[in-house]
Formats: sequence, structure tokens, C-alpha cells
Amino acid sequence: MTSGATSIDAARVELLLNELRLPGVKAIWPKLAAQSDKEGWPAARFLAALAEHEAADRTRRRIERHMVEARLPAGKTLATFEFESVPMLSKAQAMALAAGDVWLKTGANLLLFGPPGGGKTHLGAAIGLALVEDGWRVLFARTTDLVQRLQVARRELALESAIAKLDRYDLLILDDITYVSKDQAETSVLFELIASRYERRSLLITANQPFGEWGRIFPDQAMTLAAIDRLVHHATILEMNVESYRRKVALDRRRGPGRPPVHATPNELEKAVTDAGNAA
Ligand code: ADP
Ligand code: MG
Repeated sequence: MTSGATSIDAARVELLLNELRLPGVKAIWPKLAAQSDKEGWPAARFLAALAEHEAADRTRRRIERHMVEARLPAGKTLATFEFESVPMLSKAQAMALAAGDVWLKTGANLLLFGPPGGGKTHLGAAIGLALVEDGWRVLFARTTDLVQRLQVARRELALESAIAKLDRYDLLILDDITYVSKDQAETSVLFELIASRYERRSLLITANQPFGEWGRIFPDQAMTLAAIDRLVHHATILEMNVESYRRKVALDRRRGPGRPPVHATPNELEKAVTDAGNAA
């Protein structure tokens, strides 16, 4: 083959790849072709290498898109989550949930309970992140924000389609469900959402309050019970009853580096945080 013919072929390939919208192939083929020529690859081997590259590239770009659409809070990863701080939590169980598969395939739920600052949002977001990296589609939302959006859709008589659009997410993370306000509770959009995803699409819910206090999230008691019933039917419930991680960090800071951590009573913690606040 003359070099003239090669460059004409190359130019045609570039044009065709533009037309076929294969930017990944366009970027890699000259390098692979050079290697193939040099090492005398059979044509099928060259084509396989090119196709493999394109497939991997598409997966990577898809995950990047899913990462953006997930709106996860920044920096909350499993790697930065200290499992030692939540001794009642099984790390193995959390890691298994973060690996997805079974529970997401069956539309089961994950509920994280515990007082403020105990790491519910961090763990929920970290599990979401791991799932996105694994190819699942996730949306993280403050429950109040999402409820507000659904209320707008309801007023526009488009609630059904708004909820249907959320079906594209294998997992919907509803952070702080108990922060839904009284006026938001009076419309039943949250119930509609829960009922629609039941046994089909998963929810991960974080809550500062136990079920007993959920009466304010829904319009009436019957609906509260019906919602809880659906949520827990296929669910893993993780209790994270630990002292606030924020307070613990504030206390450790006050105690200073190098000093061994001591177990503080809630009162001591309270005082430490107040003192830290006063000192600032
Ligand atoms: P919650 O949602 O339960 O109120 P957060 O997840 O917001 O608590 O945690 C409060 C802060 O403490 C966040 O900055 C979070 O990253 C951090 N945090 C909480 N628990 C842990 C933990 N076990 N390991 C590392 N950081 C933690
Ligand atoms: Mg939180």
C-alpha cells in the first residue's frame, strides 16, 4: 500500500466516523491501526480491539452522565465513612448493599434511622455513589425539595408523569423524610410516589424520627400506616443510634491532637460543643 492511498483512506475514515458520531473510535483508531500494522494483527483482532475500546468508552461516558444526574452531595464516600463510629452497623452488610444487585432488582428499600449528625446522609450518599459507579441510576434529593416539585406537577395535573419519570432511577434517595412540612403533608404526593415505586423501584430513606413520629408526613393516619407498610414490606432497616459525628469531631478538636479519645457523656459533649462555640 502506498502512503498516498493510506492517507486517503485515513481521511475517509475520519469523515465517516464523524458522520457515524463515533468520536471515541475516531480518537483511538490511528494508534490501534499503527500497532496493528506494526505487529501484523489479523483484521478481526484490530476490529475487536477497536470495538472493545468503544464499548468501554461508552460505559465510562454513561456513568459520568449518571454521576451528574444523581446530584449526590460531594465527598461522601464509603472510603471516608468511619464504620468504627457506628458500631451497631455491620460494615459487611453496608458494603453488600452498596454492591446493589438483589435489592435493587426487586425494588426493595433501605431505611436509615438515627439522630442528627450520625452519618445517615453520608452513608446513604456513599451507597448511592457506589451504585452509580456500578452502573445503576440514582437520584439523591432532599425529600422536601422533591415533594415540592411533585406538588407543582400535581397543580399542573402532571403528577402521574412526574412520578413516572422518576422510574428511570433504580434508586431514589429521599433524605430527611421527616422534614416534610405540615402543608406539604396535606397533599398526598409523597404517598403516591411510595405507592408507585412499591415492589418495582427502590427507595433509600433517611429519617431522624422513628415511625411513631411519621404522622406529620402524611395527611392522615391511615395513609401513614399504608405508606410505612409498603416501605417496610421489603426493606433493610439500619439503625444508626450514635452520638453526632459533628459533635465528636468538635470535641476531639477541643481535646487536641495526641490525647487519647475518652468516651464522653452527652452532657460533656454538649458542654464541649458550647465551649468550642464560645471560643470561636
Ligand atoms: P445525618 O444525616 O445523620 O444527620 P450526616 O451524614 O450529615 O448526618 O453527618 C454529619 C457530618 O459528619 C457529615 O459531614 C458527615 O460526612 C460526617 N460523618 C458522620 N458520620 C460519619 C462517619 N461515620 N464517618 C465519617 N464521617 C461521618
Ligand atoms: Mg442528614
